[in-house]
Amino acid sequence: MYLYNSATHKKAPFVTHTPGRVEMYTCGPTVYHFAHIGNLRSYIMEDVLEKLLRYEGLEVNRVMNITDVGHLSSDADTGEDKMLMGAKREHKSVMEIAQFYTDAFFADCRKLNIKTPDTVQPATGLIPEFIEMVQGLLDKGYAYVAGGNVYFDTSKLRRYHIFFDHDESDLQVGVREGVEEDGNKRNKNDFVLWFTKSKFEDQALKWDSPWGVGYPGWHIECSAISLKYNGEYLDLHCGGIDNAFPHHTNEIAQSESYLGHPWCPQWFHVHHLVTPEGKMSKSKGKALILTTLEEEGYDPLSYRFFCLQSHYRKALVFTWENLDNAQGAYRKLIARAAALKPGDGPVDEAVLKAQREKFLQAVGNDLNTSLGITAVYDALKLPANDATKLAVLDDFDRVLGLDLTKKAAAKRAEDAKAAASTDASGFTVTGEGDPAIDALVLRRAEAKKAKNFAEADRIRDDLRARGIELTDTPTGTTWKTRS
Ligand SMILES: [Zn+2]
Repeated sequence: MYLYNSATHKKAPFVTHTPGRVEMYTCGPTVYHFAHIGNLRSYIMEDVLEKLLRYEGLEVNRVMNITDVGHLSSDADTGEDKMLMGAKREHKSVMEIAQFYTDAFFADCRKLNIKTPDTVQPATGLIPEFIEMVQGLLDKGYAYVAGGNVYFDTSKLRRYHIFFDHDESDLQVGVREGVEEDGNKRNKNDFVLWFTKSKFEDQALKWDSPWGVGYPGWHIECSAISLKYNGEYLDLHCGGIDNAFPHHTNEIAQSESYLGHPWCPQWFHVHHLVTPEGKMSKSKGKALILTTLEEEGYDPLSYRFFCLQSHYRKALVFTWENLDNAQGAYRKLIARAAALKPGDGPVDEAVLKAQREKFLQAVGNDLNTSLGITAVYDALKLPANDATKLAVLDDFDRVLGLDLTKKAAAKRAEDAKAAASTDASGFTVTGEGDPAIDALVLRRAEAKKAKNFAEADRIRDDLRARGIELTDTPTGTTWKTRS
C-alpha cells in the first residue's frame, strides 16, 4: 500500500514500527459547536484509511482526542477560548457544552458510518499527564516560564518542522486573524504549553499545577494522549490540512523533544471542502452541518459517497448541485445492486479474490477512493452470477462504508412488498415487510374470492401456527406477529 506523506512530500510504501501493527492518531473535534461538513470530510476519509489498513490485514490501534479545553479561537494561542465562547453563546456550562457537542459529533459519525476509534480521550480527563510532559520539557530545557505561562522554546530545536505543501494562508494563522502578539514569547513561533496568567479571568476549567492554577495549551493534549495510548512510536498521524501548521508542527516539536527520538514518520492530511465562495469555516459563518443536509432530504451516506468520489488531497467543491448528482448516482448504484438476486448460485471464490486484489491496488494507491467506486461499477458488470457480484460489493464495502448490500437488500424487500401487497382488484396487505407472508395472505384472499373456504381457512391456520395474526378490513388484510 502506498500513501502520500505530508512530512516528506512523497508517496511511499506504508511501513510501521512494529510489523503488522499500526499505531494511528487522529486529532478530534473541539466540541464547542457542531462539526461542519468540511470537518466531517476529514473524518470520513480517515475512516476509509483506517478500514483500508484493517482490510489489508493490519492490526490498527486508533486513538483520538476530544478537545474540551485550551483551544483558542486563533490556533496561535490568541483570541478567545472556544469552549467558553460556546458556553456564553448557549448560556450553559462549559462541561454541558462539551458533552452536548461530543454526543452530536458521534451521532454524525454513526450516520456517516464512521467507526469510533479504539480510544477516545477528552483532554480534561488527562491533566496530570499533560503536566508531567510540560515539566519534562522544562527539565530538558525546551520550555520556559514567562508572564506566568509556560512556553515551548522553538529556538532550541534543530529544525522546527513545517509542512510546506499546504495552503499559504494556513501558515499565517496569527496574522490572518489580526490578533495581538504575545509579548512573553521569546521567539515568534513559541507556543503555550500551560496557561496560568491569562486574560480569561472567567475561564471555567482550571487545575492546580507547579506553575499555578491554570489550564493546558491545545497542542500538548495530542502529544500526551498519543504517548499514553499509542506509545513512544506513532506510525500514522491524521488530521485536516488546517491542523498541519501550527498544531501538528508543535506536536512534533513537543513529542520529539520530550522523547529524545523521532516520533511519527507518516502524516496524512485531508484537504479543504470549499464552496464557490471560499473555504468552509465556522468563523466565517457559512458552515453547513450534517443535520442541515438531512433536513434538505439528503441521506448522510450520499454525502459520504460525494466525498469518496474525489481524492482527499484535493480541495472538494461543495454545491447543492454537486450533492444532488452524488445522491442520484448513489441511489442508482443501490438500485443496480438491488436488482441482483442473492443466492442464485455459489460464490465464485476465485473471482472474489481477483476483485479483492484489484480493489486493493486501486484504493491502496494513496487512498484513491474514486477508483474504489469505479471498482464497484466494474463488479456489477462482471461475467459472474449475482451471488458473486454481491459478495464482491460486500467485500469492497468493508472499506467504502456505503452500506451497498444492506441498502440493496432493504430496497429488494420494499419492492417485493409493494409488488406482493396489492392485487389487481386493489386488495391490500399490510404487514411487517415479509414478502413470503404477504404472498400467503394474498392467496388466502383469492381462495375466499373463489369460495374455496377450506383453502382460505387452511392458510389462516397455517399462518396462526407460525405466530401470525390476521385482521380483515374492508380494503384488505393486516397481519402481525403475535407478541
Ligand atoms: Zn491534535
